[in-house]
Amino acid sequence: MTQPDFQPWMDAQFDDYVSNLETLVNLDSGSYQREGVARVLNWVADFLSADGIEVRRHHTGEVLSCVSAAVNPGQDRDHSILMLGHCDTVFPAGEAARRPFRVEGTQAHGPGVADMKAGVLMNAYLLRAWHRMGRRDLQLSGLFTCDEEIGSLTSARVIEALCREHRYVFNAEPGRPNGNVVIGRKGGVFFDINVQGKAAHAGGNFYDGISAISALGKKMGELEKLIDRDEGITLNVGLIEGGQSVNTVAPNAKAGVDLRIRTLEQREKCLTEIARICTGSVIGETSTWEIRGEFKPFVQSEGSRQLAERYLATSLAQGVMVQGEITGGCSDSGIAAACGCDVICAVGPAGGGFHTPTEYVRLETVVPKATVLFNTMWSLG
Ligand SMILES: [Zn+2]
Repeated sequence: MTQPDFQPWMDAQFDDYVSNLETLVNLDSGSYQREGVARVLNWVADFLSADGIEVRRHHTGEVLSCVSAAVNPGQDRDHSILMLGHCDTVFPAGEAARRPFRVEGTQAHGPGVADMKAGVLMNAYLLRAWHRMGRRDLQLSGLFTCDEEIGSLTSARVIEALCREHRYVFNAEPGRPNGNVVIGRKGGVFFDINVQGKAAHAGGNFYDGISAISALGKKMGELEKLIDRDEGITLNVGLIEGGQSVNTVAPNAKAGVDLRIRTLEQREKCLTEIARICTGSVIGETSTWEIRGEFKPFVQSEGSRQLAERYLATSLAQGVMVQGEITGGCSDSGIAAACGCDVICAVGPAGGGFHTPTEYVRLETVVPKATVLFNTMWSLG
C-alpha cells in the first residue's frame, strides 16, 4: 500500500473536531463523577461505532469504566499499536458550567481541554482515519479510561491486559507547551501514615502521654532523608492532621505522603525504608501505613528509545521541531513500559496550565500532531 495523505483528511475534519471538543469539555467528568466520566466514554464509543468501528465497553460492577476499540483486529503483537487516553479530569462537579469551553485566538480553554480531552478526541479521529486508510496489516486500537488522575486503580487491569497484546503504545497526554513529547516519567507512590499515641493533660500529667504528633514529626524527619536530588527521588508530606486540643498530648496524627522515584529498584529500596520508619516505634507510639495509589515509572527501554527517534524524525520531516523530555509527573505510560511495550507519551495536542483554571490547548497543533502520529504509526511493524 502506498502511504495515504492523511493531513488533508484531518484538515477537513478540523471544524467538526473543535465542535466535538466543545461537547466533551462541557461534559463534567471529574474522576469521582462516575456518571460524567461514563457520559464521555459513551460519547467516544458512539462516535466510533457510528463509523463502523468495533467497540467494546468494559464494566467494573455496574459502572462503565473503559471503552476499547480496534481497527484491523487479529494481528500479532508486533503488528499492533495501542493509543491511550483518559476521560477523567481533576475538576469538581459544576466546573464546566462555571467556565465552559471557549476559544480565544488559537487557544481553547475549559476544564480538561488539554489534559486530556483534546488527546482523547484526536485518538478517536485517528481510529476513524485508520478505518478508512490505515495499513491493513497493522492493528490500531484505542483505549479510553476513567480514573488516571487518581492513579488508575480501576483502569490499570484493562490497560495491562491490552498492553500485553500490543507492542507499540502512544499515550495522547498533552504535549508540553512548546510541543515536546515525553520519553520518561517518574513513578509515584502515594501513602498515608496513621500514628496512635496516648492522650494526657499537657499540664497535669504530661509525662503519662505519648504524643502522636511528636512521633509523626520524628518519622517525617526520617522519611525526608530518602530525598536524593542526584538520584531524582523526592518525598513530599503534603497533608497532615492530628491532635485533640492545644492542652492535650496528641493521641493521634496522620500524614499523606507523595514519593517520586525514577526506577523500580529505587521504589523497592524506598518502600523497604518507609515500611521500617512507618511501623517502627520511636517514643512508644504505634503506627501503620497504607499505599493509597501508585504509578509505575516510565523508564525508557531501547525499544521506546527507537520509537521516540522514529516519531521525532517523522515530526522533523514534517517541519515540526520538537524534542523528547523527561518529567516528574506520572501517567499510564508507566504501566505500558512495565508491560514491555515500546512507549512514547504526551503525543497529544500541545497545551499548558494543566490542572488549573488557566489550562489551554493550542488548536493549531491538532492537525500537525495527529499527522505526525498517523505517519509514525504507518511506518511501524
Ligand atoms: Zn492527563
